[in-house]
Amino acid sequence: MTQENVRFDTILHGGTVVDPATGRHGKFDIGVTDGRIAAVGPDLSSGAASQKIDVSGKIVTAGLIDTHAHVYQHVTGKFGLNPDLVGVRSGVTTLVDQGGPSCMTLGGFKHFLANKADSRTLCYISCYLVGGMEGHLYPDLHGPSGINVDHTVRVARANRDIVRGIKGHAEIGGASRWGLDVLKLAKEIARQSELPLYIHLGQMWPSVEEGDVPDADELIRALVPLMDPGDVLAHPFTRHPGGFVSMETGEVHPVVFEALDRGVLVDVGHGSHFSFEMAKRVLDAGVRPFTLGADLHGYNVRIPAEGLDADERESNPFAGAAPFSLSIAMTELLALGLSLDEVIATVTMNPAKLLHMEDEIGSLAVGKVADVSVMELVSGRFKLSDNSGVDVVTDTLVTPRFCLREGRMFESDSPLIPPPFYV
Ligand SMILES: [Zn+2]
Repeated sequence: MTQENVRFDTILHGGTVVDPATGRHGKFDIGVTDGRIAAVGPDLSSGAASQKIDVSGKIVTAGLIDTHAHVYQHVTGKFGLNPDLVGVRSGVTTLVDQGGPSCMTLGGFKHFLANKADSRTLCYISCYLVGGMEGHLYPDLHGPSGINVDHTVRVARANRDIVRGIKGHAEIGGASRWGLDVLKLAKEIARQSELPLYIHLGQMWPSVEEGDVPDADELIRALVPLMDPGDVLAHPFTRHPGGFVSMETGEVHPVVFEALDRGVLVDVGHGSHFSFEMAKRVLDAGVRPFTLGADLHGYNVRIPAEGLDADERESNPFAGAAPFSLSIAMTELLALGLSLDEVIATVTMNPAKLLHMEDEIGSLAVGKVADVSVMELVSGRFKLSDNSGVDVVTDTLVTPRFCLREGRMFESDSPLIPPPFYV
């Protein structure tokens, strides 16, 4: 393809394009004009461009999409991170906040965060009136009396531009208080809003010893039949009780396979409860994640010392947790044996489908928005740690270098990207 007559704003030259949506995996140049992908070809270097960037030796993908972010900064207390530190400055062009804003606080999310961030910032709206305040610190705020179906449906419907789903939790601390009532209300919100329901798995709140308390295995068996095709189960690899692996048998619940056969989707939702051992068991059983949310929040990133007082350092279960990022989560999936194309699909093509935005993002096809991520697969010996004490040594570290968000360049200079841990 010759491009003599075309003038580009930017040409990314000499990189290896990995674009599962178009099936491209090889050396291609990308030409960007007016915030859109204008051309993809083996060599566009003869074309005129305001800037030509040499990306040889690097991987070029559609802009990364993090399906599980917590970026309702200031309003969700220490929980909510700065959107652009998680987003464009970490090589991630689209963020989906999971349950930070609620029907009562979405206005602030939109006005103060989403409209101002350089990262495309969307959300799954919380099923709870209080949303994700302080990371759901007080369980009593999250019972059935803390939910208003009509109000949440109304706000979700009126804000389709930003609200892409409904967030709720299935975990035994809540179930010990309210059984499945909260989940049924969350499902009702999702049904009436005609949006997918995203369910957190794995214990979050301490249980209360009252009444007829389901155990973790009973809970997932009761939950999964409520899920419809397109709904999402998150945290399949959790080390906490209540994930995909049965506490009784140590194997993946049969009910999970039935759900996946029906079209229920799986988001990794890495977080601080990601476990290599659980991940191996779930992957070996044939479960494949559809999307890979990082689930970074203020309690599980390396919090600057001034962010925690002495008491909090003592009491915060995440203080000193192994640092991670979306690129570390990608590195881990590679280390667990997924192919590069499969891993890239979980952060580009698949989440674009989940968001019903595949016409705009998630691919480097000509005409799409010029959201592009450029990464390097750095070779060496690197230690990866989960928070159950398991270390894995891998030889490939996914390292973001920069991204284009609608054609505009952002270096990957976020302090949230952990430095490589060489061994
Ligand atoms: Zn989360």
